[in-house]
Amino acid sequence: MKYFLITYGCQMNQSDSERIASLLESINYKSAPQINGADLIIVNMCSIRQSAVDRIDGLMNKINKENTGKTKKVKSILTGCILKNDFKKLKKYFDFVLPIKTLKTWPALLKEKRFFYYPDQRNSNFNKKFQSDYFNTIPKNQSNYSALITISSGCNNFCTYCVVPHTRGPLICRPHQDIIKEVKKIIQNGGKEVWLLGQNVNDYKSGKVDFPKLLKLINDIDGNFWIRFTSPHPKNFSDKLIKTMVACKKYKHYLNLPIQSGDNQILKKMNRPYTVTQYKNLVKKIKKNIPDISLSTDVIIGFANETKKQFKNTLKLLEEIKYDMAYFAVYSPRPQTVGLKLKNSLSKSEKEKRYKSLTKIIKETALENNKKYIGQTTEVLINEAKKGLLIGKTDTYKTVIFEGKKNLVGQFVKVKISKITPFGLKGILML
Ligand code: SF4
Repeated sequence: MKYFLITYGCQMNQSDSERIASLLESINYKSAPQINGADLIIVNMCSIRQSAVDRIDGLMNKINKENTGKTKKVKSILTGCILKNDFKKLKKYFDFVLPIKTLKTWPALLKEKRFFYYPDQRNSNFNKKFQSDYFNTIPKNQSNYSALITISSGCNNFCTYCVVPHTRGPLICRPHQDIIKEVKKIIQNGGKEVWLLGQNVNDYKSGKVDFPKLLKLINDIDGNFWIRFTSPHPKNFSDKLIKTMVACKKYKHYLNLPIQSGDNQILKKMNRPYTVTQYKNLVKKIKKNIPDISLSTDVIIGFANETKKQFKNTLKLLEEIKYDMAYFAVYSPRPQTVGLKLKNSLSKSEKEKRYKSLTKIIKETALENNKKYIGQTTEVLINEAKKGLLIGKTDTYKTVIFEGKKNLVGQFVKVKISKITPFGLKGILML
């Protein structure tokens, strides 16, 4: 039996897809190279944007049309972060709609004809029943050397634009002992990089172990490997964490610190409990302690009828902070969120115009920041080989392209940087 897995969403969704692959392969399913040869199609979705829902709608419509009249019955599962409205809209295309946390029950359920289960993700009985099974399904890492490690699931922050607290439920932290065990195993098997994943890693708590302590415990594991994490919330990014980042030599100097808006009124409407000044002071402190840190951020464009003046504050902030990268999302109101009740009549063309202005600034600041790399020799972890070229990441998470042999994929190498673009470096492999 073969399965084909489609993932829409963030690294958490990717990590969940690795869990699904691990479970299916434990019951003798094999991965199909193409959707056409599959007996089981799984769509692991994220409801955070309407565009993802629309894409699934289009894709499944096409697949179901192609399969009409065929004798081979292909089964399909929808899972991931699903809002109730999206569940109602999409369930017609699928044989099963199942919460990701119920993964261990899937083998038995697959014997049924159809089955839909949409519990309240915030229900404590549901979480008690399934949470540890979910955490204990060790993902089948897609990469042999870079692993996504879930440290918590869910979120209690309720930013007003965000569906996560509704689709993933409350924050539940994975016991630190299990995380350490998983990381040790990955490193023993040749892993070179671990990403610690949580909706807000700063909220992590397992007994007396908070996030800085967890970082330290992972840093103390023997082996030559890099540690990265995502995402931290600016509201509770502690001095203790900054100190730990400095002290942990395996923590690499890249940080995604989501601002979402450079305007205080908008931040308040978003239920992001920090001001622009507080955020800037935090960045100052981080840069003072880790001068070579590479910073990225997330920005939502056009939230709650963001005015031109409010948007200009975000532009100003980007110019001031001089990020290395930023991820921009044009706001679309989502069901079940408070944001849905706020005005949202800004035109698509205005949002696109703002998107372009932000992109222009980030290209300029990233290019400026990259100038310091020219002539430097830097360590690179090689991620892939493509058309005779190797592609990897620096410790500061810059993409580097250079010539080299395919068998170096998954290795640390030294590369001398010769050229730069806003979002990439080119160099020569040093032997
Ligand atoms: S911190 Fe806010 S944006 Fe992040 S997952 Fe939680 S509610 Fe969503």
